[in-house]
This record gives sequence, structure tokens and C-alpha cells, in this order.
Amino acid sequence: MAIISWDKNQCIGCGACTAVCPSNWEMKDDNKAHPKEINISDDKLKCNKSAEQVCPVQCIIIK
Ligand code: SF4
Repeated sequence: MAIISWDKNQCIGCGACTAVCPSNWEMKDDNKAHPKEINISDDKLKCNKSAEQVCPVQCIIIK
């Protein structure tokens, strides 16, 4: 189990997280990426970790 925190205000809407982890990240009308789930199970960790790593402004943090 892990928890996603992400700072929407820092998001530049590049779409990288949605490209590597579309199962949990989606672009919305505000042109920002949003996680579908904040509390993620271990089987979804790898995908979300990839999103964390590709974000160019480091606004996704998984703990
Ligand atoms: S990778 Fe980061 S900056 Fe790019 S859309 Fe996702 S959260 Fe926003």
C-alpha cells in the first residue's frame, strides 16, 4: 500500500505520467494530470512509480 501526493499547481500538463501509467493517471479539462486513485495497492505501485519518475517537475510523490 502506498499513498500518492501530487501538486496540481506544479503540473505543466505534459502528459508523461498518463503515457506511462494510463491506468491511474488521466488528463482533465484543466489540462492537469489527475490520479484516479490516491491510495494504491502494491500491484499498482510499479506503474505509479514510473509516473513519479518521468514527471519533469517532480510534482508526483509516492510514499
Ligand atoms: S508528468 Fe507531471 S507535469 Fe506531466 S502531466 Fe503528469 S503530473 Fe503533470
